[in-house]
Amino acid sequence: IQTDLAGEDIVIEKGLRPESLDQYVGQSKAKNNLKIFIEAAKSRNEPLDHVLFYGPPGLGKTTLATIIAHEMGVHIKVTSGPAIEKPGEMAAILNNLAENDILFIDEIHRLNRQVEEVLYPAMEDYSIDIMIGKGQGARSIRLDLPKFTLVGATTRAGLLTAPLRDRFGVINKLEFYTVDELKQIIIRSAGLLNVEIDEKGATELARRSRGTPRLANRLLKRVRDFAQVKYDGVITEDVANLALDLLEVDKLGLDKGDRSILETMIDKFDGGPVGLDTLAAALGEDSGTLEDVYEPYLIQNGLLQRTPRGRIATRLAYEHLGVPFLED
Ligand code: ADP
Repeated sequence: IQTDLAGEDIVIEKGLRPESLDQYVGQSKAKNNLKIFIEAAKSRNEPLDHVLFYGPPGLGKTTLATIIAHEMGVHIKVTSGPAIEKPGEMAAILNNLAENDILFIDEIHRLNRQVEEVLYPAMEDYSIDIMIGKGQGARSIRLDLPKFTLVGATTRAGLLTAPLRDRFGVINKLEFYTVDELKQIIIRSAGLLNVEIDEKGATELARRSRGTPRLANRLLKRVRDFAQVKYDGVITEDVANLALDLLEVDKLGLDKGDRSILETMIDKFDGGPVGLDTLAAALGEDSGTLEDVYEPYLIQNGLLQRTPRGRIATRLAYEHLGVPFLED
């Protein structure tokens, strides 16, 4: 039931994605909310209220959108903010939805203003205003749309305009996963991939997956390659450790990119405080990516702090990198 907007290929690779809420591990707050809203909407025979998911990449926003469609028994159309350039394109997409369909817009903060404005009446009254004619004779007519559910996803809730944000009835923040939750995901994925993994191997992989299912699945696939080529195919703690060391994923799940942020803060800025833009420039990295993709995990693990004067590398960061920490 997943089609792209041309109604052709399946655009969301299915693979390891859970299909129902029961298979979806973790995010219990979002999940419990959704369960109730879905049941209520179904019993009223209405579409679900518009839903916004926000949080770092790879935590399961797209997956939840497909699960909602599955649970509601409706179709999902998938697009993304930067893919829709003109108001007319947005109007066409909306007009082609069927009753109760789900429209999933990834990176919804990247919609341009005019396109976004088409969404306001669409979300609120299931209608759009279109202009016909030109110049003096031009007039606007209101077109009714099928009732639909907009599911938006963003890594940057802060960049959403207030009028758009206010039109979502349900707003869910996705959290990093615990080691235990990642372990369940890894064991399930290993089963689907037909790879043998023992309890300790799964724990080690989970620890080093940065709280992120997408990464857990990716590391599982890489470690599987090691296990097959160099060992007897089973992922044990030793195999996981060796492979992850070779992949330069450290004990906290930090990769080279994460570590170079902390190293730069310590080497070039004396541990901070350093402003986000200055730090981004020193790293040759986009400041938005730094803030949305890298920082949340470093902050969650107490390695980096945001202060009014800038970012600071904590004592834990020094210890983790093995750099002596000098008290002032
Ligand atoms: P996002 O849209 O937030 O970037 P995705 O929904 O694409 O993240 O999830 C990334 C991958 O992680 C998916 O392919 C899916 O297999 C897996 N995944 C995400 N959340 C879960 C979960 N709660 N349980 C199991 N697998 C998950």
